[in-house]
Amino acid sequence: MPELPEVETVRRGLKKYFANEKIQQVKLLYPKLLVTDEKQFLKRVTGSIVTRIDRRGKFLLIRLDNQSTIVSHLRMEGRYSVEESDQAPHKHTEAIFQLVNGNQVFYDDTRKFGRMQLVKTGDEAKAVKSIGSMGPEPTEQTLTSTYFFNRLQKSKKAVKAWLLDQNNLAGIGNIYADEVLWLSRISPLRPANEINSTEADNLRENIISELAFAIKNGGSTVHSFIDPAGESGHMQDKLHVYGRVGQSCERDGEKLIKIKLAQRGTTYCQKCQK
Ligand SMILES: [Zn+2]
Repeated sequence: MPELPEVETVRRGLKKYFANEKIQQVKLLYPKLLVTDEKQFLKRVTGSIVTRIDRRGKFLLIRLDNQSTIVSHLRMEGRYSVEESDQAPHKHTEAIFQLVNGNQVFYDDTRKFGRMQLVKTGDEAKAVKSIGSMGPEPTEQTLTSTYFFNRLQKSKKAVKAWLLDQNNLAGIGNIYADEVLWLSRISPLRPANEINSTEADNLRENIISELAFAIKNGGSTVHSFIDPAGESGHMQDKLHVYGRVGQSCERDGEKLIKIKLAQRGTTYCQKCQK
């Protein structure tokens, strides 16, 4: 599933090719993609100009010049691409935005889990429940160490599960949860409220820096993620534990193990993650 760095990479790609362009026509090949009414969606989006592409957590917010925003969540396998005017739909293309400049923006989804919702700009938090309840973005300014430590103290959940909960903080999924816990030498099984303030500060720093590093590397292609320019991210080559079960820990040579935690595969080192 694309996590914050992957969605941010999509945002930057879309900003280059989709922002400031006028949408001539919309084709919905899989209308169930929409959470909102199809007719209303087509009416509002056709003929509009994309003014900006924002992101909140793992949601893309495609801003239109008529006070409407397309809220897009890629879920498991959603993917945007920019195509030439004569490109036919791919096997799993669900929506096509034909631009006045001749390009087409495709939304493809092999698993059909991704969703789009049209909302009034500024109403995202009201209209989309999971945006309304979402925790802060993982940056130096928005994720304060006081908030982070206090919030950890309130939960007895395993810290891995706590990190995946978007109400605590935005953007982390399975890949980066495993990575930041390894970087912080914390076992994914530790109850959140048993993490002391020094460990919490260290974990917070690792979250902020690791996500920024992943964005710099264009995200990872672990789940066949490709950015709109057709280029792949490089982050998958820089992961320490995710997808490396059975290999040696870079720190101490211990064999990395994989367990199931909160219904998700979790890879970690039993020796250095306490
Ligand atoms: Zn280790």
